[in-house]
Amino acid sequence: MKIMLPLSLLAVTLAGCATPPQIASAPAEPAPSFAGSVSAADPRAQAAGEAMLARGGSATDAAIAIMLALTVVEPQSSGIGGGGFMVRGTADGVVSTFDGRETAPAGATPKWFLDASGNLPPRSESVRSGLSVGVPGNIALAAKAHAAHGKLPWADLFAPAIELARDGFEVNPRLNGMLASAKDRSAHSAAARALYFEASGEPRPVGAIIVNETLAKTFETIAEAGPDAFYTGALAQEIASTVADDTPHAGAMTPADIVGYEAKEREPVCGSYRAYRICAMGPPTSGGVAVLQMLGQLERFDLAEMGLRNPRTWHLFVESQRLAYADRELYLADSDFVSVPLPGLVDPEYLAGRSALIAADARLAEAQPGTPPGADRSLADGDEPEEHGTSHFAVVDGSGVMISYTSTIEGAFGSGLMAGGFFLNNELTDFSRSPEVDGRAVANRVEPGKRPRSSMAPTVVYDPQGQPFLAVGAAGGSTIPVQTARSIIGAIDFGLSAQEILALPFIMAFGDRLLLEQGTWLEEQAEAFRALGHGEVLVREAPVKGGAVLRGADGWESARDPRLQGQIEIP
Ligand code: GLU
Repeated sequence: MKIMLPLSLLAVTLAGCATPPQIASAPAEPAPSFAGSVSAADPRAQAAGEAMLARGGSATDAAIAIMLALTVVEPQSSGIGGGGFMVRGTADGVVSTFDGRETAPAGATPKWFLDASGNLPPRSESVRSGLSVGVPGNIALAAKAHAAHGKLPWADLFAPAIELARDGFEVNPRLNGMLASAKDRSAHSAAARALYFEASGEPRPVGAIIVNETLAKTFETIAEAGPDAFYTGALAQEIASTVADDTPHAGAMTPADIVGYEAKEREPVCGSYRAYRICAMGPPTSGGVAVLQMLGQLERFDLAEMGLRNPRTWHLFVESQRLAYADRELYLADSDFVSVPLPGLVDPEYLAGRSALIAADARLAEAQPGTPPGADRSLADGDEPEEHGTSHFAVVDGSGVMISYTSTIEGAFGSGLMAGGFFLNNELTDFSRSPEVDGRAVANRVEPGKRPRSSMAPTVVYDPQGQPFLAVGAAGGSTIPVQTARSIIGAIDFGLSAQEILALPFIMAFGDRLLLEQGTWLEEQAEAFRALGHGEVLVREAPVKGGAVLRGADGWESARDPRLQGQIEIP
């Protein structure tokens, strides 16, 4: 939603820190000043961000307030028990990125997920245990970003979240549905059962009011004492002992792991697409690189000329996905531990060579990883299915600063474990649980202190004149880079609005299968895709959930994924 700030309110906001200007005569009806625009998956979290902007806060302040509020109202998706990535782009094109990805404890080894006999247990067992919990990074990310770019006092950012937790928030159909469908996780801990379930064992119904006083107190402590109150003392003790109690072998998370956590400011990965500048998050996420690769490989095709509803347009997109994902699986991991061939992966010459593999009228039989400059081909690929428990939010403030922030606890309700009134993530199952394949080490294997590979792709885009244009990203595990690239294509090639880019039908190759989103115009084109060689074409609901702010002809627009309004569940 776009927020216009009346000049009178601006004066009030400024009055606290400076002498208000003396007004000699009655002013003409003041033109409202643009305070910013916010997109979040839940309107209550969106309101938290808007409240910060209306008080003169920066885009960073608003984004942090959203992250905190989502911990309360969308507990299935993200929160302070998890991590995230934030990309910040200023009006004059300076882009910085903040990495709040969770880390493996110091006692973790590549065999972390193997049982005593060296076998892999079922994935759900790894997830629903202390093994999957990484040291949470969102509070450290927020503290680092706020220290650099916050305008409001740290404690103020917590006010909306504290109010939502203490006064109570209403259970919406999405939360109710997720409590029921992910009960192995949502009802895993006694604390969660007490908070989100009736005595009968049924999830709290739609419309019920949930008061999370424990979380309100946690927020108050961190608001008053600062971020160290999360990483030291009683809360850190509680997190460590909750995780350790549920970890089946040695090496469990300790308070020392938690106090040692560090959010990192990293270089963005940037590239261009049709003279627009695209900047995104680099490793440990694969998301930004995949987005830039998909777009780079598509640049030689005139998609606008081919047309939005032409199946060949989307065939090219699918082929570009397949090439980008082949590279992603082999090369992307935490670059503090593994040599990731950046910038080779996004080198225009390399991408032109990859693009040459794409045929306009036939599917490439096999999409193999390439060999970008600087590549180490000794590592193996070890993909791990990703789950869907994430939220993307985007903000632009009155000075044109864009924030694109994706926050996650990985799967729905994370590990199912709770501390301090919030769910603890299961991000470590984003590592490859198998440390090696055919005797070769997997790049994304577990190592102490390492960050698991992510797909999250918070991105900012500048138009050909260098002006802020779009902040976009998504939730949805491995679908995230595809959703994000699709939105960017929608905005740049087809000039669509914020709402339209998120509403675009979803299409993605999963291995040899092609998913077309059910109930959309793509569904009617299944035959055309088969004719292009995409043998197994599935028509399904799409597990997607994007968010964006975009500068259109009439100024900034914000949108959340229309599938949320239709209450389609992210499975
Ligand atoms: N944990 C996943 C990642 O970091 C995100 C899961 C989701 O989007 O729901 O890529």
